[in-house]
Amino acid sequence: MRMETIRIEGIAAPVSRIGLGTWAIGGSMWGGSDDASSVATIRQAMDSGINLIDTAPAYGFGHSEEIVGKALLGIRDQAVIATKVALEWPGGKVRRNATAARIRVEIEDSLRRLRTDRIDLYQVHWPDPLVRHEETALELEKLRRQGKILAIGVSNYAPAEMEKFRRFAPLATVQSPYNLFERGIEQNVLPHARTTGATVLAYGALCRGLLSGRMHADTAFGGDDLRKFDPKFQQPRLRHYLAAVQALDRFARERHGKTVLALAVRWILDQGPTIALWGARRPEQLQGIDAALGWKLRATDLEQIDALLAQHITDPVGPEFMAPPARPLTLEQQ
Ligand code: NAP
Repeated sequence: MRMETIRIEGIAAPVSRIGLGTWAIGGSMWGGSDDASSVATIRQAMDSGINLIDTAPAYGFGHSEEIVGKALLGIRDQAVIATKVALEWPGGKVRRNATAARIRVEIEDSLRRLRTDRIDLYQVHWPDPLVRHEETALELEKLRRQGKILAIGVSNYAPAEMEKFRRFAPLATVQSPYNLFERGIEQNVLPHARTTGATVLAYGALCRGLLSGRMHADTAFGGDDLRKFDPKFQQPRLRHYLAAVQALDRFARERHGKTVLALAVRWILDQGPTIALWGARRPEQLQGIDAALGWKLRATDLEQIDALLAQHITDPVGPEFMAPPARPLTLEQQ
């Protein structure tokens, strides 16, 4: 099946509307990962028509970027690399830092780890309440003018923050949590993107695996896997979410001959100027790509999906647990 693509201002190549998410490939917060399998997954994504690879320095404290750089050796020009900036991790504790000084250090680290001379899409990972948008945006714009980055994006920003940022630098994309179970951006970011022309990179497309259709009430997570404390994965909520997955799977099979996984990805693609970021760390996890492409959900499908969600999920909870803290205020700032 032919990959669907979208244009991102500043990036010459059409960008695949399914992007590979490489957070789990970094290992930490996902109970560890196997590097050979990670490299094979990135190669498999590229062979399947995905050219957008989304990573971040914070994913495994540089490890995810290193694996992306390794996997793209020899095929880097065919890829659209999206990475991020503005988190730091003193003592292994991740927190926000969007100062110009931090950006100047991080860009060189990321270019080295990714084994490239340019980053296609450079995204501010989380807004930093201690730094003016002007400072962050102007520093990124400097990098864009130098050719070290081709396009600027933000992540986890509200429209009001994006408006402030846009006064100082062009904003091509916004990356936000978005999937069948996490729909907060429909109230603000998505309509804002539709009017400003920004592309929305929807993260957690499978709701951390829930929407793969392969999870059960007794699926166990090892080591530091974040799903051990993700509120959706705790009972009794988990039971409700799994019941919704089952109902959606039945609906997808009966109505379209698809699985819930294909439905979940298709649903994101049908919501507007979106890219679905699909996290995977084993090549076989990407087998369902084709099934998500080349068809569309009808208005009546969308209504029935919403009805199924309302029927099963009576106590919804969002992805807020993932937000990293800001740095502590200095005495002068208090
Ligand atoms: P996701 O895409 O919703 O879920 C990924 C997980 O789902 C995989 O690690 C895998 O879990 C499971 N999975 C994937 N395909 C599967 C299949 N075919 N069958 C069974 N299980 C499958 O979650 P995500 O990785 O958190 O989100 C996607 C990407 O968005 C990230 O990798 C990252 O690039 C980005 N992201 C960005 C932010 C941000 O703040 N900007 C935050 C979160 C994520 P197992 O490997 O454990 O089986």
